[in-house]
Amino acid sequence: MKLLVVEDHRELHALLRTHLERAGFAVDAVASGKAALDALAVGDFDALVLDLGLPDMDGMAVLAACQKLPRKTPCIVLTARDALDSRIAGLNGGADDYMLKPFDMAELEARLRAVLRRTHGMPQNRLELGNVAFESVSRLATVQGCPVDLLRREAMLLEEMLRVWPRIVIKERLEEHIYATRESVTLNAIEALVSRLRRKLRDGGADVLIDTVRGLGYRLVLAQDARRDGHQS
Ligand code: CA
Repeated sequence: MKLLVVEDHRELHALLRTHLERAGFAVDAVASGKAALDALAVGDFDALVLDLGLPDMDGMAVLAACQKLPRKTPCIVLTARDALDSRIAGLNGGADDYMLKPFDMAELEARLRAVLRRTHGMPQNRLELGNVAFESVSRLATVQGCPVDLLRREAMLLEEMLRVWPRIVIKERLEEHIYATRESVTLNAIEALVSRLRRKLRDGGADVLIDTVRGLGYRLVLAQDARRDGHQS
């Protein structure tokens, strides 16, 4: 899942980025309204975290642009307590939730997961298929109840595949959703990531395989179905 974070306060900007990356999101972080509008024009984000007090424009302008996107993109607004009264009307018109500064990062993360669940029909925080399970909040993957040691991006890949199962995860979309825009990534890097995760699942004794769908992407299949249908993995 990819987020656009718009916050001009230097420390908060860095803190948001670090915390949300650690929480398993790909994060593009910008510090002005102009940069946010540019990012929204080209990027595909699952949600926005938006500070309303931006140096170059009112954050409400960014919120308005967000609402015009073809795909519903939920937005959590960050605002100062003393500015809240004048904001309420506007917020009711567009934001999915708001946080009063100063706020607790864990609470922001929880609210973010809640709006993502509402908007994208994201299932519970625990995703499961066969004997493989993944906890979105703790980032813990298990096979038959035993923890599997996954690197950050391997965990993001597993989460995305479990989330869309039984549909296919499109290779190009994977790139958008597990890498921040500043990170350049080749399709080879994605293939390498997929094979690492595939190996870890296999070594852990998973009864779920990563099936390669030529020219499209990847999907998870239960080993029993893969054998029956002769899938490539
Ligand atoms: Ca600000």
